[in-house]
Amino acid sequence: MKAVVMRADWEPRPDARLDETQLRTRKAPANLVWRRPTFSWEEVGLPAPGVGEVLLRIRRCGVCGSDTHCYETDDAGYVLFSGPTRLPCVVGHEYSAEVVELGKGVQNLRVGDLVCAEGMLGCGVCEACRVGRPNQCPRLEMVGFSAPGAFAEYVVANERFLWNLAPLADRLGSAAAALELAALVEPIGCAFNGMFVSSTPAPPGGWVGVFGCGPIGLGAVALARAAGAAGIAAFDVVPERCALALELGADIALHPGECDPADVLRTMSGGWGADMIVEAAGAAQLTMPFIERAFAPGGRMVYLGRTGQRAPVLLDVLVTQAAGIVGARGHVGGGCFPRILRLMERGRLPVRSMITCRLPFAHTLEALVQSTDRRNGKVLVDYDGV
Ligand SMILES: [Zn+2]
Ligand SMILES: [Zn+2]
Repeated sequence: MKAVVMRADWEPRPDARLDETQLRTRKAPANLVWRRPTFSWEEVGLPAPGVGEVLLRIRRCGVCGSDTHCYETDDAGYVLFSGPTRLPCVVGHEYSAEVVELGKGVQNLRVGDLVCAEGMLGCGVCEACRVGRPNQCPRLEMVGFSAPGAFAEYVVANERFLWNLAPLADRLGSAAAALELAALVEPIGCAFNGMFVSSTPAPPGGWVGVFGCGPIGLGAVALARAAGAAGIAAFDVVPERCALALELGADIALHPGECDPADVLRTMSGGWGADMIVEAAGAAQLTMPFIERAFAPGGRMVYLGRTGQRAPVLLDVLVTQAAGIVGARGHVGGGCFPRILRLMERGRLPVRSMITCRLPFAHTLEALVQSTDRRNGKVLVDYDGV
């Protein structure tokens, strides 16, 4: 079958400090070890489903910011993505698909079912997995980074990572519409995990600020709206993305260089400040000086963006405002997938307009390039009719 494969040179940075397992398995934070990445079409073997697994025909797959960060490099040629990566690997992880073959012992799926998939494959037996922190599993495999991804005709997945789309397709009256929305569950799940699982959520009637209006920030805007925020202010340097934020439920969307975001949040909230601030820009060195001035009493900042750079922050404000900063990685556990699907089924998460670019499967490489200009919401690859 045809697949888009990422390759790069294994050249750990001199200061990388890798442990023995990382050196042996060559699975390590990509930005520390993988240099000069390439993406190309390759012919790879059709995978066969093992016990508890199914063979899936991919129908839609979104381009993730992490894919973009694998495509892009720093001055020394290292990829920007900092998650655990083992190459070569078929890329792509934000997918929806159709079950075409069952392995032995599959309990909950049948051939023909439509599904979407979690992309973080916790081992299920370590302490992190068993205490309910599967996103922090030390043996985590990530679809499209260390496990075979979905920019391919087929992929194999264990049924415990899959969610059935039958209720969504029924409610929408369209399999195609369900497959499109379902490809957005993974990025929105990252926002859900940060805002509702890792952090004390902003209460209904609270004030929310969102820095960065890529798909995860836009998901945060839509979720804050669904959760009853009194007001949402969003900030992004790209005008197109500010327009999308307004469409998805923000009350204000501004270029952070053309206003003082802390003042905007204070003014919007009548002086109270933000009950929740989501950092999805991955630019904490620029956003923290605003965020530290914008906390409401008891306010929370959720850090979702990734950057290898240190950020200046005056921690004294956490004392004065009894505020908190939490980080979150991933989209697994805590009910992220089923709850987002239910919001979608009931029309409470109108996020379809987030998809601003659709390209056929044959144009997957163009889709990756397209994502680097950061003008789109979600770039979606469509495998139907190709
Ligand atoms: Zn993603
Ligand atoms: Zn585990």
